[in-house]
Amino acid sequence: MSKSAIVIGAGIVGLATARALAIRGYKVTVLERTGKAVGASIKNFGMIWPIGQPAGEMYERALLSKRIWKEVCNQAGIWYEESGSLHAAYNDAEQQVLEEFYEASNEERPCYLLNKNETANKSEAIVQKALRSALYCEDEMIVDPREAIAKLPAYLAEKYGVKFIWSSGVTKVFYPTVWCGEKLYEADQVFVCNGADFETLFPGQFAALPLTKCKLQMMRTEAQPGNWRIGPAICGGLSLIHYKSFAAAPSLNILKEKFENERSDYLNWGIHVMVSQNRIGELTIGDSHEYGQTFEPFDRAFINEMILTYLASFASFKTEKIIETWNGIYAKLRNTGTVVNHKRPHRVYKVVQGDRKKTLKLIKQYPTTFCRVFCLASIPNWLMIPSSFFTD
Ligand SMILES: Cc1cc2nc3c(=O)[nH]c(=O)nc-3n(C[C@H](O)[C@H](O)[C@H](O)COP(=O)(O)OP(=O)(O)OC[C@H]3O[C@@H](n4cnc5c(N)ncnc54)[C@H](O)[C@@H]3O)c2cc1C
Repeated sequence: MSKSAIVIGAGIVGLATARALAIRGYKVTVLERTGKAVGASIKNFGMIWPIGQPAGEMYERALLSKRIWKEVCNQAGIWYEESGSLHAAYNDAEQQVLEEFYEASNEERPCYLLNKNETANKSEAIVQKALRSALYCEDEMIVDPREAIAKLPAYLAEKYGVKFIWSSGVTKVFYPTVWCGEKLYEADQVFVCNGADFETLFPGQFAALPLTKCKLQMMRTEAQPGNWRIGPAICGGLSLIHYKSFAAAPSLNILKEKFENERSDYLNWGIHVMVSQNRIGELTIGDSHEYGQTFEPFDRAFINEMILTYLASFASFKTEKIIETWNGIYAKLRNTGTVVNHKRPHRVYKVVQGDRKKTLKLIKQYPTTFCRVFCLASIPNWLMIPSSFFTD
């Protein structure tokens, strides 16, 4: 008899979970609260970003995630660009970090140190004045999250028979029954992929977990004229202290100290600045990071101004007209990457994103709550969970 599963939430984690379950022979039903997914998964840069992951297991997972994204995009007719990434250096400290990262990583990653001219050839968007050098890496890939999240349900329905029930907020789970108001559903397994909603389902359990929420502010420009492309996704020096991967550079602390002295306001708001470009040429620009359980719902204009001021120090575009601003909130483990929370009676799972080693630590901390671990074969951000996730 075929096994059945209910997935709660149609963001990327729910979609990835549905795919992985379907590959393993489950009859999958996805219950989504809203008429279409409008959570964190459509509000991001669409950056599939191995360079943000430290060498070893996490980097390998990021590459696996990218491979799965490519496969799915090709099958589902979703646009993607293997743009690579460009980190530009404008002072000694940034240059030193890039050089050391390159030395530590170039055998594992397809990355290259570029001089000023080579950087200009790679991207016309990079500001040349005071530019020292840049690190180009081939790994990174861009999707348009709005397109991808909209198209994936139809793909999963057609290819794997996944059933989507929209506008169906789950109000209670008591295994094996799932309530959507008065409507009841049942399945052999239930996966809670509800993003940053810690309040509706299992609020007590969520409160006990080292989970927090992160609010990010973002902007989008109008399409660049004449099909002008920026080339790789681009970042300034602040990204070097944001991503754990750059800890491979021994001088990173010097750069951190420099930012603490010169741009403490940026660090206070968790700002680092990146740009990606979608198929039609619009630029997605961000971002800031505020952590907590409840946020002001409004965008702070000064944060957007800070982001744009810093952006102007390393990139310029044919048009910089902002057509949209928004903020997004996603679930994040405090100090760690992620977790899969397995709840009694062994068949209800909370899925966030993760780092297996850190999850194991959490299991030791919460032995009754985390009784089973899955390897989330992806980066602790955008992910497409492969079937190996469910092998235990
Ligand atoms: C602004 C921003 C930029 C980012 N940039 C990147 C990036 O470029 N690359 C990257 O890798 N990561 C990025 N991230 C992180 C990434 O977007 C998130 O980690 C990811 O989208 C989380 O997916 P999710 O499915 O858990 O959450 P969501 O996309 O929020 O989905 C959760 C879904 O569950 C539904 N739901 C909740 N409760 C219920 C319920 N009770 N019943 C039914 N349905 C329910 C919600 O309606 C929602 O559709 C970014 C995040 C933000 C906010």
